[in-house]
Amino acid sequence: MQISANTVVTLKYKLSNHSTGEQIEETNETNPLVFLYGVGSLIPEFEENLANKTAGDSFDFHIVAANAYGDHDPQHMAMIPTNIFHDEEGKFDEQMFHVGALVPMSDNEGNQLRGKIVEVDEENVKMDFNHPLAGTDLHFSGEILAVREANVEEIAHGHAHGPDGHHHH
Ligand code: ZN
Repeated sequence: MQISANTVVTLKYKLSNHSTGEQIEETNETNPLVFLYGVGSLIPEFEENLANKTAGDSFDFHIVAANAYGDHDPQHMAMIPTNIFHDEEGKFDEQMFHVGALVPMSDNEGNQLRGKIVEVDEENVKMDFNHPLAGTDLHFSGEILAVREANVEEIAHGHAHGPDGHHHH
């Protein structure tokens, strides 16, 4: 069966940084990616590159940052006063809020977002709210392990229920 709308695809892949070759993520046969094809759950260009493939086919392609998680946007960097991070005693926990730490925050509208600390000084913490893969050209390679028709329930839910279509609780 070929990959097309309303099929459930099981695949394994290696994701690396297309420019540096550095590996970012890898899935395998025991922990494959299973998804309902054609409902926009994955990067559109990722799905496009898999169209019409069947079990046993391999793939190898890259997607430029702008078409993946977007370019790195300096507008999504923010200077946040350190006192926001103070505990009940008015102390700044340097262990917890170090450069590189990912911190859950919420914006003015109460949306949850995760920021990465890129700089800390006396008054401010500079945070980056871009997606961790923003600005990264992605290289995917891997193999299609299985393709099957989605069942009615999966189509109604808009997602796959695993390689064998077992319902989730
Ligand atoms: Zn479901």
